[in-house]
Amino acid sequence: THDRVINFGAGPSALPVSVLEETAKSLLNFSGTGIGIGEISHRSKEFTAVVNDLESLIRTQLDVPSTHTILFSQGGASAQFSAVVMNMLARYKLLHPEKTAEEVTMDYVVTGSWSKKAAEEARRLGGGQVNVAVDSRQFSKDGKSFDNIPSHESYKLSEDPALIYYCENETVDGVEFSHDLTASTSFPFHLLKQGSLVPLVADYSSSFMCRPIPRLADHAIIYAGAQKNIGPAGLTIIIVRQDCIVDVDAAAKLGTAPVPLMLSYKTLADAKSLYNTPSVISLYMTKLVLQRMKEKGGLPYFEEMNRKKAARIYGLLKEGGEKGVFERKVSDGSESWMNATFLVVGEGAEKRFLDGAEKQGMMALKGHRCACLMPLFSNYRIQ
Ligand code: PMP
Repeated sequence: THDRVINFGAGPSALPVSVLEETAKSLLNFSGTGIGIGEISHRSKEFTAVVNDLESLIRTQLDVPSTHTILFSQGGASAQFSAVVMNMLARYKLLHPEKTAEEVTMDYVVTGSWSKKAAEEARRLGGGQVNVAVDSRQFSKDGKSFDNIPSHESYKLSEDPALIYYCENETVDGVEFSHDLTASTSFPFHLLKQGSLVPLVADYSSSFMCRPIPRLADHAIIYAGAQKNIGPAGLTIIIVRQDCIVDVDAAAKLGTAPVPLMLSYKTLADAKSLYNTPSVISLYMTKLVLQRMKEKGGLPYFEEMNRKKAARIYGLLKEGGEKGVFERKVSDGSESWMNATFLVVGEGAEKRFLDGAEKQGMMALKGHRCACLMPLFSNYRIQ
């Protein structure tokens, strides 16, 4: 009934057909209201039920503790590059009013183009000094690529930073922190100050809901755009520990930069994520995706499926590597479950590979970087 191809697009990416069909019906008549989902008021009881359901589907499946609030916003993950800085600087100011901007540090773990971008935004906004706690390029095979997750001893964290930032899965570069916390390529949680509210911030945009989040409760903020794994673009999920939902105006009175209301977590939290008109259709479709996830067995089911997919793809890449067909870009132990980057070796080989894939209905395999292919194989990308 569908002439759909296999879409490997990194984001927006493929969504389950059942969700698309349900949405198509709801575009005409949502929840028996006679009003379409693109037309209904975000204050209606039918729609606020969607927001509540979505919140609880995320909370229960990811096991989000009551210390953390789940917020929904717009502006994508990119808006969070700014929001995390502004909210965490405000929090720090309220905790340490005596410290000047020069005395405030923000630690960035740079392992790829997205964390690099986030660090650049922190530098742009100012209000503190950016300390690159580690830059993985320093440890790369060629001295300039984001091809690895550095080992624990290479981190240089500050004494009392306003935030510590990392990107769990680097979409463009194909590197990801290991979830085996004994592995040297895991995030070094043991280096964080024990027994305190650590200001740890993680960008989970490209791996959200593909498996459980290790040490979730120890994070101050975890955020993700919906469009890679769980819905269409237009929705950002932010999981914030409550001590990071602060009165940004009180901080501004003490000298931090004023925070636009739409970027303040307190604005979103006070209004239960409905301060202004949200991306109604994205929220609705994401709810449908998560409901389907739950019906299929929740995160354990998807974790197992993604583990198998990763093993299969990397197995083939290894085999192809031995035969001189493929060249993997990422070093062992740093490979992403979500996006595998590799080269097809030989003159014109990449084009032949892409053309061949296209003939088999496999589209959007080509990545951002020249000769770097990014077949994403997340929750729904292969159905
Ligand atoms: N972080 C990561 C890891 C990403 O993959 C992306 C999108 N490719 C972004 C941030 C930016 O997301 P958005 O387009 O939603 O702003």
